[in-house]
Amino acid sequence: MVELCFEQGPIRPPSEAHSLLLRVTRNCPWNRCEFCHTYKEAKFSIRTAEEVKKDIDVVQEIISEIRALSWRYGFGGEIAAPLVNSILQDPKRDSDGFHSVGLWLYTGGRNIFLQDGDNLILKTSELVEMLEYLKRAFPSAERITTYARAKTVSRKKVEELQDLSRAGLSRIHIGLETGYDPLLQFVKRGVTAQEHIEAGRRVKESGISLSEYVILGLGGRGMWREHAAETARVLNQINPDFIRVRTLKVLKTMPLHQKIEKGEFIITSDDEMMEELRLLIDHLQGITSAFVSDHILNLLQEVEGKLPEEKEKMLNLIERYLSLPKKERDSYRFGRRVGVYQSVEDLSRPELRNRVERVLQQIESERPASLEEVLSELTESFI
Ligand code: SF4
Repeated sequence: MVELCFEQGPIRPPSEAHSLLLRVTRNCPWNRCEFCHTYKEAKFSIRTAEEVKKDIDVVQEIISEIRALSWRYGFGGEIAAPLVNSILQDPKRDSDGFHSVGLWLYTGGRNIFLQDGDNLILKTSELVEMLEYLKRAFPSAERITTYARAKTVSRKKVEELQDLSRAGLSRIHIGLETGYDPLLQFVKRGVTAQEHIEAGRRVKESGISLSEYVILGLGGRGMWREHAAETARVLNQINPDFIRVRTLKVLKTMPLHQKIEKGEFIITSDDEMMEELRLLIDHLQGITSAFVSDHILNLLQEVEGKLPEEKEKMLNLIERYLSLPKKERDSYRFGRRVGVYQSVEDLSRPELRNRVERVLQQIESERPASLEEVLSELTESFI
């Protein structure tokens, strides 16, 4: 049997967990952001339209084979859980391609995410050609999305973005990270706040849905206030469809770690980050974005809502956490990181609370004064 393979890159946004991943470019053409380690040491390259189309053909072949298996095993063409399980365990079909297409179909086969870090760097006509081929192959696809750098988007005309929209591109995920210019320079983001505004507005004008990502904690102790206030200012001028927050976690493989060692950057605590989140949300004004907390590292994932209606609700949730006694906040931070608590509300569930307290006591007896170390190790495992 000829092995059916297609190329996939390393990452996708959390909201694309159930999307089919197709690689259009490899790695990142910028690759200098100090808080990012994803593509370090990896060279950027553009895949040709022919290569991408061949991958799309392979996905279609895999789908045909999976559907044939479904009929053969008595599932009547349906992509049922036992069928997907048998595909995952079948050594003849152990390619990543089979696994990801099987899981994609099982979860509805609706959305497609184009990898890697900045696909708008392609000539618009090339990306249109790929998108049109993709749309022809999967006419029922509900959403086709990609990452792009704001700098790159700010060089595209609105008409080009409209061409991409017509060809099927429905959402662009942009890492704003911060709207504070000195911080953008400090982390070598290679883009200004004004370029972010320009890029975001063009995407909106083209009719493509826009997600803007913000990294909580990126300002460190030195710049957190400016980070929050200026990021809100930029978002207020863009009014993206989604504002998605993530939490900074600095690994040794990230250049920002060297700044920490030299004392040039001081990481904020969880509680300080929640104050930053409060300031950010408080400064969001005149926009209608959905505020989303969809990253596993975020401490208060319940702080989500539609602006402006749910702004007060979100601020109250942060306030509720910050007004807890320190012991309770520590219990929550630990319980959240080990996956027991999903929200601060869970602190009032005795069965969960007892589980967390037992483990915490054990840690305190075995590794005194090491809660912060343990939390750091736990959060590292999520990256
Ligand atoms: S542009 Fe994105 S992928 Fe590239 S280095 Fe920066 S954060 Fe990483």
